[in-house]
Amino acid sequence: MNKGFTVWFTGLSGAGKSTLSQLLGKKLQEWGRSAEMLDRDTVRTNLSQGLGSNKHDRDISIQRIAFVCKLLTRNGVAVLAPTISPYRGAREMARKEIGNFVEVYVKCPLEVCIERKVEGISERALKGEIAGFDGISDPYEEPLNPEVVVETDKETVEESVNKIVQKLLELGYVSQTGSAGHVYSPEEEDKIKERLSRLGYI
Ligand code: ADP
Repeated sequence: MNKGFTVWFTGLSGAGKSTLSQLLGKKLQEWGRSAEMLDRDTVRTNLSQGLGSNKHDRDISIQRIAFVCKLLTRNGVAVLAPTISPYRGAREMARKEIGNFVEVYVKCPLEVCIERKVEGISERALKGEIAGFDGISDPYEEPLNPEVVVETDKETVEESVNKIVQKLLELGYVSQTGSAGHVYSPEEEDKIKERLSRLGYI
């Protein structure tokens, strides 16, 4: 079985968590890994419905996300969890719960995040959006010792994803060819089997 792990993306809204986790998930799947992304909509519909945005409710939501990540991780899945998770304590809880935990701090200045988020929305919605923005209405506690820091106002999406891939290689969660364990795609496996059979090995 592949070694499971969870890539936990933390950062302000608009920093680039969803974009990076989508692209990384796609790459991991291309490399033959089973990858699951706990994206915003999935979480909202299945795990945090009815919860508010106060610290207590957010901690509960993170606990539930971490629980699902733990189950998947221990079964060899590559899990991608883009969550703002502004509180350090909750992230540390998730790290302990999950074990194979790769914290990615998706770093981006607040002004840039706001610019990205509010492009195209009305002035009234803009005021509401800004008022409820983590980093303004609520604190955002920067990670002290994350495995990876990406600076999305300075890097391209590809560069940021590559930084994460490098760290996954370094930690032994994926191998050079893509995955730890199932190194080959099904098509490649078939070709290898065919060759081995021709040579009389199988
Ligand atoms: P979040 O999930 O953190 O709320 P999104 O991924 O929805 O943020 O939005 C981030 C935006 O920033 C996207 O439009 C994306 O194209 C852009 N962006 C620019 N550079 C990067 C980068 N290096 N990594 C991730 N996103 C980036």
